[in-house]
Amino acid sequence: MSDITDQSSPRVIDPAELRRKYREERDKRIRPDGRMQYIDVSGTYEGFASDPYLAQSPGGQPREPRTVDVDTVVLGGGWAGLQMAVRLDEAGADDFLIIDEAGDFGGVWYWNRYPGVRCDIESYIYMPLLEEVGTIPSEKYAGGPEMLEHARALGRHYDLYSRALLGTKVTRVEWNESRSRWAVRTNRGDVIDARFLVIGTGPLNRPKLPGIPGIETFQGQAFHSSRWDYDITGGDWSGNLDKLAGKRVALIGTGATSIQILPPVAESAEHVYVFQRTPGAVFPRNNRPTDPEWFRGLEPGWQRKRMDNFVEVMAGLPVENLVNDVGTNNRQRFAKAMSGPGGPNPAAMQAMDFEVMEEARQWVRDNVEDAATAAALMPWYDYLCKRPLYSDDYYPTFNRGNVTLIDTDGKGVERITERGVVVAGAEFDVDVIIYSTGFQAQAYTYDAGGYELRGRDGVSLADHWRNGMHSLHGMMTTAFPNLFLIGGVEQAAISINLPHVASRQAVHIAALVSRFVGDGVVVAEATPDAEQRWADELARVHVDMSRYEAECTPSYWNNEGKADDIRPTTQGGQYGRGPIGYLAVLEQWRAAEVDRDLTLRTAVEASLALAETRAP
Ligand code: NDP
Repeated sequence: MSDITDQSSPRVIDPAELRRKYREERDKRIRPDGRMQYIDVSGTYEGFASDPYLAQSPGGQPREPRTVDVDTVVLGGGWAGLQMAVRLDEAGADDFLIIDEAGDFGGVWYWNRYPGVRCDIESYIYMPLLEEVGTIPSEKYAGGPEMLEHARALGRHYDLYSRALLGTKVTRVEWNESRSRWAVRTNRGDVIDARFLVIGTGPLNRPKLPGIPGIETFQGQAFHSSRWDYDITGGDWSGNLDKLAGKRVALIGTGATSIQILPPVAESAEHVYVFQRTPGAVFPRNNRPTDPEWFRGLEPGWQRKRMDNFVEVMAGLPVENLVNDVGTNNRQRFAKAMSGPGGPNPAAMQAMDFEVMEEARQWVRDNVEDAATAAALMPWYDYLCKRPLYSDDYYPTFNRGNVTLIDTDGKGVERITERGVVVAGAEFDVDVIIYSTGFQAQAYTYDAGGYELRGRDGVSLADHWRNGMHSLHGMMTTAFPNLFLIGGVEQAAISINLPHVASRQAVHIAALVSRFVGDGVVVAEATPDAEQRWADELARVHVDMSRYEAECTPSYWNNEGKADDIRPTTQGGQYGRGPIGYLAVLEQWRAAEVDRDLTLRTAVEASLALAETRAP
């Protein structure tokens, strides 16, 4: 048996030994509480959710409560909500109001302002409506401030600020049957009625904390990475965190966020302890400035083509790879391995997986000088078990004298005390704790926004889906008339380039709303038959990843390793033909099947239907 953790070169890939090691590492991390291990930032922990940016934002200004009746309320001012508003405008359904708890547009880029924050999807496909607004990203992977500024530019360009209630938290949303309208109430006393409701609050909007005792007892300063407190650290996105000088900092977590935070924090703090539970696979990023000549030479319509090309490449289609970066190149290598002359070849695919992950480990060896630290930073799982990470400066930061990796051997932080962080009985005294522990990515649509959503007869969405989610395209559901979900993950399709699917769902919903407004339709509701047809279609094209996932180290990508704990909303999972198939389904449905699948009522028909239900 070869010792695969041996640090000498050259390394031979031993599949059996790798599988054994992967399983050993997975088993260390499987926990009976699965996703329930995390703490939501509410109640005692509410402080971790408070908005440090509100006072300086448009939504932070005082205003009178509003009483309005609009055609459409859009919940969320991130990429999904912004694209929704733009498409409603273009479709002539321009009587809408955007509501967001954040003080400005931007969604994740409003909240995530930590030093070093940067997109790891190419900006040219990630930032929506670049051509329309005229924004030129400065780099292939632009920084957070540019993302936020582009969201604001969309707000200005499309005059969305005048149609937005920012810094406004929705407290209750309820369908009013007799008025065929949604009643939306907020924490600022607004009374808003809307014919249509679009929810685009995104899958990564609620921070989570590790479920460990003592968080509230810490006497130093602490915050979550998505609520970065520059009053504590000093500096800004580009670093210079001068208030960390002389301070000992604990950075908890080693995901996509942490690997960006560590380098600037290490530049300024006296000492940084990085608390690691599972090492991620970090690949080279290879960022570079945008070539203005190339950008100016792009043909009109280029952005949609490039976005589509990305999902084609990620689907393994044999097309030119326009984005041509480490992530897409890896994907192409898998596709090539899979499609040998003898047809699909899972063994070749697994061999490629071992090879790619070995490259990730080699990248650690190439960059980290201390052999023990390098060994602890190496990832041991199959490529798709966790989101691949990209950074050129994360690993070299461990060569600094003021950075210590505290590897918890898969167990995680044990406890927080008044003075610091405890791992395996050893206490590390620190002045500041940064929780870079991610988001409630599995929060259900019905509790992700922190308000209750009630449909016909006061039924909550939670109860409506108690025995499993049922929907039409993951966007509409019975008993919740005129409600659309945009950018949702379940029973729809998702691309790792998150704004992409939402960009087309926005066009879809806008076309429907515009038609309904034009035709005087006041109630549009998916029929049970339509939901059943979609459930059948989901089952027909379902791609069973359960065997792959069962081998994985836990993460939110595999329900924290609890394959047996099927969440209600995951019934049917995602559309098995991915974004390409899903977007084609939407187009075809819009062209030919709307009237078959939706109950559509005018005001008179809605009154008659209501009278019938009330008849003795
Ligand atoms: P993640 O959920 O990816 O990472 C959370 C980290 O906290 C993990 O390393 C996790 O370890 C660790 N953790 C959890 N509990 C404990 C514990 N008890 N003790 C010690 N460590 C613990 O959150 P991120 O904020 O890093 O990323 C979330 C998502 O945000 C990403 O997947 C990505 O989709 C998105 N993102 C995108 C970026 C972009 O550029 N587009 C940049 C940053 C984030 P373990 O792995 O063991 O669970």
